[in-house]
Amino acid sequence: MVLNPLNTFLTDNIVWVLIISALFVALIIYAALTTRSKRQVQTLMFTDQLTNIYNARYLETHFSDILMTIDESISFYYINIDNFKNYNDLFGFHVADKLLKGFSSRLTNIAPASSHVFRVHSDRFIVLSAARKDKDGAFTNELLKKLKKPYTIDEHEFRITVSIGRYVISDERPLYQDVLLKSELALDEAKRIGKDQAVVYDSRMREDHHNMFDMYRFIKDALKNNTFYMEFQPIMDTKNKTLAGLEALIRFKAKRKLLFPGDIINYAEKFNLIDEIDRYVIKHTFEAYRRFKQEGVPIRFIAVNISSSELHNSDFLTFIKQMLKEYSIDPKEVVIEFTETVDPQKLENESRFISDLRAIGLRVAIDDFGSGYSSMIRLSRTKLDRIKIDKSFVSNIVTSPSNQALIKAMVDLGRAFNLDVVVEGVETQAEYDFMLQQGIDYIQGYYFYRAMNTQAVITSFTNQDS
Ligand code: C2E
Ligand code: CA
Ligand code: CA
Repeated sequence: MVLNPLNTFLTDNIVWVLIISALFVALIIYAALTTRSKRQVQTLMFTDQLTNIYNARYLETHFSDILMTIDESISFYYINIDNFKNYNDLFGFHVADKLLKGFSSRLTNIAPASSHVFRVHSDRFIVLSAARKDKDGAFTNELLKKLKKPYTIDEHEFRITVSIGRYVISDERPLYQDVLLKSELALDEAKRIGKDQAVVYDSRMREDHHNMFDMYRFIKDALKNNTFYMEFQPIMDTKNKTLAGLEALIRFKAKRKLLFPGDIINYAEKFNLIDEIDRYVIKHTFEAYRRFKQEGVPIRFIAVNISSSELHNSDFLTFIKQMLKEYSIDPKEVVIEFTETVDPQKLENESRFISDLRAIGLRVAIDDFGSGYSSMIRLSRTKLDRIKIDKSFVSNIVTSPSNQALIKAMVDLGRAFNLDVVVEGVETQAEYDFMLQQGIDYIQGYYFYRAMNTQAVITSFTNQDS
């Protein structure tokens, strides 16, 4: 009998053959499953969770492929809802979210079949569409008109307007960042000229953009050459009108055009320089605080403004600890002032950041309290030390019963949560009297003092008995 060598091998090694076959089958199943979960992960990565349309990540990574699907010259529309922040502030994020969903589905319906719609950030959307569809601005006008028709949410009607920046892509191999920037410049211009407008990109806008680069250099140089400096505004004990603490506010020695601190902070956020600015502010403020103490200025705390958490590097907290040590400062005497977020999605990160700051021993105040979206939610979720009632409630307090009621309510809230209450922007005797009646702990404002430099603080508060 002639034995087939393969048969012999199979019968002799049957167990191994079975094991290898099983492994092979398992491998095929595993590969199929991972392809499926990979696809699921990709869908998640590239889809905006709220509106179910593609997100910025998808647009950026697939930009040239998307352009190829539109076989002619293309318009890139950057669309932004005007004053969207107000919807969050006034109606809460569940209403604002519904508005965004309604907006997104309307936009998808208006957009021509071959076009692409993306939600790139909060209330910012992008449409890519064949330029020929927009002869004489017909499609742009349609967008402006149809997007502002009322939206019905929970039986209420909401009206919005949009601003649009449009860039017609003419380069053969356009870069996503470049196209985005140009449409954004056009969008900025549409906002500047009064909103509810569309503007087509024009190369002159690029010149303004070069000024932005100047700004970038300016901030970088100021950080390097120490041309920023800190001023300090006294925060007074309400009852006995004596100095309680100081708030550090950034200033700079500018030979060029006048810039307000708010401008520096806005630009720094745009350029990702906030982390550097905040570190600069902390270092210089702590240095001055140590000096105030050494010179005998009778203060119990120093307040420092810090920008939103996600703009900071992960070692930011370590940096603060180092600085506390370097200047021998008791963390309990440092109050970090945090402006209320306008973005509900950031709330959780911020709560964590606040807890981390408090874990170091620092105290945390919510700045501009009452003006943002999250006042109430934050109070119930995050342990805080202080609220600082926004100055917008203070002006015209004497003639405005509603502002009076709001301040009273905020003070009650502060008390209920066992928080110190500070009011800023108190300018007149009448405003001071009202705050005194409310039992507010601390007052800051021109009624007492404006911000002053380090030396002025020392001279004002060491020669007198305050
Ligand atoms: P803020 O934190 O709300 O600071 C209070 C602002 O109100 C200061 O303006 C202060 O000069 C002004 N102010 C104080 N009392 C009165 C008053 O009685 N009446 C009026 N009309 N205004 C008063 P400033 O210095 O222009 O700062 C503006 C904003 O810039 C600050 O608002 C803060 O958000 C930001 N900022 C300032 N310094 C820094 C900083 O060092 N770091 C960060 N991240 N932000 C800063
Ligand atoms: Ca502040
Ligand atoms: Ca404030």
